[in-house]
Amino acid sequence: MDAKSIRRRQEVDDEDGIWKYVFGFTEMAVVKCAIELGIPDFLESQQQAVTLDQLSSALGCSPSALYRIMRFLINRGIFKEVEITPSTEAALASTTPSAPTSGYVQTPLSALLTRDGEKSMAAFVRLESSPVMLAPWLKLSGRVLLSSSSGDNNLHNCSSSDAFEAANGKDVWRYAESDPAHSKLIEDAMACHARMAVPAIIQACPDLLLLHGEVVVVDVGGGDGTTVEMLVKAFPGVKGINFDLPHVVSVAPKRPGVHHVGGNMFQRIPKADAVFLMWVLHDWGDEECIQILSKCREAIPEETGKVIIAEAILTEIINGYELGTIPRMKNNTNTKNSKLQEKDHNNNNSYEVGLMLDMVMMAHTGNGLERTEKQWSHVLTAAGFKSYTVTPTSDVVSIIQAWP
Ligand code: SAH
Repeated sequence: MDAKSIRRRQEVDDEDGIWKYVFGFTEMAVVKCAIELGIPDFLESQQQAVTLDQLSSALGCSPSALYRIMRFLINRGIFKEVEITPSTEAALASTTPSAPTSGYVQTPLSALLTRDGEKSMAAFVRLESSPVMLAPWLKLSGRVLLSSSSGDNNLHNCSSSDAFEAANGKDVWRYAESDPAHSKLIEDAMACHARMAVPAIIQACPDLLLLHGEVVVVDVGGGDGTTVEMLVKAFPGVKGINFDLPHVVSVAPKRPGVHHVGGNMFQRIPKADAVFLMWVLHDWGDEECIQILSKCREAIPEETGKVIIAEAILTEIINGYELGTIPRMKNNTNTKNSKLQEKDHNNNNSYEVGLMLDMVMMAHTGNGLERTEKQWSHVLTAAGFKSYTVTPTSDVVSIIQAWP
């Protein structure tokens, strides 16, 4: 191929690729639609493949519209279409040979989208596709600009640097306090992730809470208490405190072995042997993290206590080299440099997810961000912690254990 043909081919590839960005929202919207219609639940409840007629009459849908939704989601690998061969009795009973038909079945991905499944992520999709969470994305450039301009160019009409506040009038936590339904969406979504993450954390760190004697663990920003209940069950003898804002714990369900405490982590954290924080510190900037971590340090015994942080850790990439690579599921804390390899990224999409989470922090929080290990080291040291280890898990979060 000559240089001109190669250039033209690249242009065609780029032109094809751009549609992903033009219509990027389609995937989330169609998945949300499938959840609302209950398609994953219906397919899961059936022992065999379901025809379009069966699916549309069970769900009360227009067959032609449902066909198009299914065609889209099959193309994305969310559902599968298989051939249905008529049973031997049906074939014998029929006077005319029947043409093979096709039917829909679930896939491991659609199993994650049932409404109430143990591993369901449906509530997370519902949260992120809610108007409240979508609106700040339209203010993202205002979050990045040093100062917002009004004037003739009204493109950046966001006067606050917090995109969530610019869209919804309050920061994300004050908004949740004022809107119990939205607060429930948040807590349900977080509980979805907790049900996936906690088993991965325990597998990666089997002695996470095997401390001496009777142990109390406080989950700071613990939401509805799902995480601390799972920890208490996994580590017999451990007592759990679920600590969160008063409006969150006042509606949290009662959980065995868990005491709910309402308060503000910037003021005081209940005393415990270990403090656990998952997806809390990434909501805050460095100064705020240092304040929270200092309060955590005050809450634990100086000699024996520890702070456990579950967060995505971004690989640091400088001049094509990965620094502080965190290989998933390898139970070590090595942070040696390694040449950036394409295959690492293909095997492990946690970097991609980490970068997405970082954008979510930018859209939904004032100063939140995902951090590299070097950035974590900075906030931990500034908050007075003397040592820490990092353990990757099979989930997007890694575990940092820090000692005063
Ligand atoms: N750790 C949970 C929830 C993470 S979402 C999980 O991973 O499933 C962040 C949590 O921090 C929310 O539940 C929010 O209510 C809580 N939070 C925000 N500000 C807080 C504060 N000042 N004090 C205590 N909790 C706070």
